[in-house]
Amino acid sequence: MTSTKRLTIAMQKSGRLSDDTQNLLKRCGLKLNLTDRRLLAHVSNMPIDIMRVRSSDIPGLVMDGVCDIGIVGDNTLEEAALERKLLGNNSEYIRTKGLNFGGCRLSLAMPEEFEYTGIESLNGLRFATTYPQLLKRYASENNIDVDFCLLKGSVEVAPRVGLADGICDLVSTGATLEANGLKEVEVIYRSTAALIQNPNPLSQDKQAIFDTLLQRMQGVMKAKE
Ligand code: ATP
Repeated sequence: MTSTKRLTIAMQKSGRLSDDTQNLLKRCGLKLNLTDRRLLAHVSNMPIDIMRVRSSDIPGLVMDGVCDIGIVGDNTLEEAALERKLLGNNSEYIRTKGLNFGGCRLSLAMPEEFEYTGIESLNGLRFATTYPQLLKRYASENNIDVDFCLLKGSVEVAPRVGLADGICDLVSTGATLEANGLKEVEVIYRSTAALIQNPNPLSQDKQAIFDTLLQRMQGVMKAKE
């Protein structure tokens, strides 16, 4: 558990959300020095610590109360919550605020030559994905039966090498799909980055810091609109 005095924020160490997250925090007035390799960075002008980790570790750190708040994509958050629920681990969180970056969609994509005639035409097929829980939920809500193989990266090559019939992966422009001879056939989940917090009440000190941060975030996001 974290101390009762310093608010701990989990953010992605490096990747698609890290620059935008860092800029947001900076624009909220936090003095950060994230140039070194340390996992935990102190904010010098506010009682805040920043923990820099893999995206997929952020939901668990917040749900388990190791960090008070986190900034993570909805896709990662929802996938982790479903998986943790299944395993009987803490899966509660509060989605305090949607953020105006990290927009993407989780989509099903098939080889261009595949004859797509509606969602039923995907019945019985196998999809490569990093998001099996979101895929399973979508399939069950739409009464289709699909199989999956779990891949953490380079998902789009799976159909070409015979590992899967199609993929269930994140898309923003669609250029990667096109470059790999794939076409998007269904959007199954829409995502942005989000600010999340542990559902337990914060100490008075931390709540005051969080209130200030939230107010500033509101201002920064409004100014960007
Ligand atoms: P990490 O490497 O930190 O464990 P990751 O593999 O999800 O996590 P990134 O590829 O940097 O890392 O993606 C981080 C998040 O950025 C995604 O979970 C998603 O919310 C968002 N995102 C926005 N656009 C895209 C996109 N086109 N492809 C993948 N992710 C995107």
